[in-house]
Amino acid sequence: MTNAPCSSLLDFDKRHIWHPYTSVSDPLPTYFVEKASGVRLVLSDGNELIDGMSSWWTAIHGYNHSRLNSAAKAQLEKMSHVMFGGITHEPAIKLSQKLVELTPSSLEKVFLADSGSIAVEVAMKMALQYWHARAEPTRCKFATLRSGYHGDTYHAMSVCDPVTGMHQIFRGSLPKHFFADRPLTRFSDPWQQEDFSSMQDIFEQHGETLAGVVLEPVVQGAGGMWFYHPEYLRQLRTLCDEYGVLLLFDEIATGFGRTGKLFALEHAGVVPDILCLGKALTGGYLSLAATLTSKKVSDTIGSAEPCVFMHGPTFMGNPLACAIANESIDLLLESSWEERISCIESQLQAELEPCRALVGVEDVRVLGGIGVIEMATPINVAHFQRECVSRGVWIRPFGKLAYLMPPYCISPEDLTHLTSALYDTLEITGGAQ
Ligand SMILES: *Cc1c(COP(=O)(O)O)cnc(C)c1O
Repeated sequence: MTNAPCSSLLDFDKRHIWHPYTSVSDPLPTYFVEKASGVRLVLSDGNELIDGMSSWWTAIHGYNHSRLNSAAKAQLEKMSHVMFGGITHEPAIKLSQKLVELTPSSLEKVFLADSGSIAVEVAMKMALQYWHARAEPTRCKFATLRSGYHGDTYHAMSVCDPVTGMHQIFRGSLPKHFFADRPLTRFSDPWQQEDFSSMQDIFEQHGETLAGVVLEPVVQGAGGMWFYHPEYLRQLRTLCDEYGVLLLFDEIATGFGRTGKLFALEHAGVVPDILCLGKALTGGYLSLAATLTSKKVSDTIGSAEPCVFMHGPTFMGNPLACAIANESIDLLLESSWEERISCIESQLQAELEPCRALVGVEDVRVLGGIGVIEMATPINVAHFQRECVSRGVWIRPFGKLAYLMPPYCISPEDLTHLTSALYDTLEITGGAQ
């Protein structure tokens, strides 16, 4: 039962408001959330949904967390924002200290960006400015993987999958980069050397024009929810070193424990030249991201005109977001997150495996706190979500993929509720258009 004020608000929403990747002329049903706490979203009709999405990888500690709330309030009492040009403050310094400590030791320069896409723009601009400073401006191309996703702004779009990616419309005006085949060897299968040949070919043909390679280590997220073999990254590091090409890792989705390691690069033991973080950085409270790089890259950028890095967002280093990020990282590190993710992984493996027998299911895969069901045909989002909501869970599929990445604090009972609701929903909607 939707109450009256909500239905008029929903009506306005339907007529006037863009939602992500949603038509405004024929919008899909949208659900009105009034509040959220722990792993539950509370709808305006009083129904509660167990959240299987962590609001797109972000809310790792659950919603309305008392410590994150307190950190936000304490910072609000001091200041919510001051400009970062010529000014600094404790929340940004402490956060940068933490990021430098937690990531590989050569990554020691921190650029605080306002969203994941901006962090990727910044990373790519750093690579370009590095080659500009080295007087090799013809190194202006990037190599990347098919079925990757790096964000919605222009440069980030240019390295999203050119076919299945969401940005074909803009292709004519985007810079053209090189796309290697997605590695097919699964995360824990025996490594197949032919997986690397496509990237090898790109280097052999275009290595001298490459500024960098940008990719999501181990887990490709929104481009296909695919988990590949870490050996790929080790060979890529070697190849980049051979050609002097910079290696850029986008850990915006994978960072902060989601894959079972604090950062996915740890699965491969590979250190990139530039690293992007975002999403779970503030525990899902505010938009904040970071791009880290080495002294080598930053010194080179600083060594030639214009000597400064050419980027500086208005809300750079926002103190409120940084204060919450500090608390979120503390919370994560104080928790037994490795054990939690490992329990979630085992439970997802056991409870999603039966989905394999359902009509229309092509693949079931699990890594860390991520469980993926790949269907043979695209999922009807409206139908699927209606069935999920009627079962008290929130799962948002895209394309042929339905997946779970719950908050780390989810109880085994709530996780079972999620997996069984997913099973039942797929049984009803599976293969249906
Ligand atoms: C979500 C995502 C981005 C973009 O982040 P926004 O905060 O949405 O701009 C970039 N890269 C990856 C891997 C992501 O998952």
